[in-house]
Amino acid sequence: MNAAPADQIRLLDLQAIDSKLDQLAHRRRTLPEHAEIDKATADHTALRDLVVAAQAQQGDTARELTKAEQDVDQVRTRFARNQQRMESGAVGSAKDLENLQHENESLAKRQSALEDVVLEVMERLESAQTRVTELTARLEHSDVVVKEAVGRRDAAFAEIDAEAAKVARDREAVAVVIPADLLKLYTRLREQQGGVGAARLYQRRCEGCRVEFAITDLNAIKAEPKDAVVRCENCGRILVRTADSGI
Ligand SMILES: [Zn+2]
Repeated sequence: MNAAPADQIRLLDLQAIDSKLDQLAHRRRTLPEHAEIDKATADHTALRDLVVAAQAQQGDTARELTKAEQDVDQVRTRFARNQQRMESGAVGSAKDLENLQHENESLAKRQSALEDVVLEVMERLESAQTRVTELTARLEHSDVVVKEAVGRRDAAFAEIDAEAAKVARDREAVAVVIPADLLKLYTRLREQQGGVGAARLYQRRCEGCRVEFAITDLNAIKAEPKDAVVRCENCGRILVRTADSGI
């Protein structure tokens, strides 16, 4: 393949631009915010599960409290009814009065025991409410952490994308003047060779693979016509001779 030396040098400009675009794409993929967002999102999901569990616990305990309070009310109502009957004088028999008296003594003990239950459940309900409040605050904070990291990622994206768009316009201007066959070869080699399709010959080395040429190889390259498209024997990349190639 032949190409004018100026077009071969333009290929180096294109290579520099493509490398820049690759760097920008790499930076976009490897932003530290990606890991931050993953971590913050996982934390947020875990906290949401904890809040749901804590709310369920709070609901269960609230129902338990209602039940315990109803138990106390039942005993209190029965106690009051017995008391009223005893005081009304409607109960004539001493035996019945005694029975009512006994029942109220045991009801009073039962009420006291049930009130202890109510207090114990109230304490648990308070703990459950505190836990819901704390976890909800942490959940809200984790939401802020996620949004903040997403915001920083998107700002970085916008910056990178704007720069990439500008570089892509530069690329268009350079690529349009390079002969199609040379561009095609460069594109193929770039795909095969980790993003570098054209390299400068500089100080006896291929700048693509860094291999140093022996004098005989260098002389062979020197003997090639100026418009020959030379390939590096080692890596196969297009080897571009410039004014400072030293040959
Ligand atoms: Zn090479």
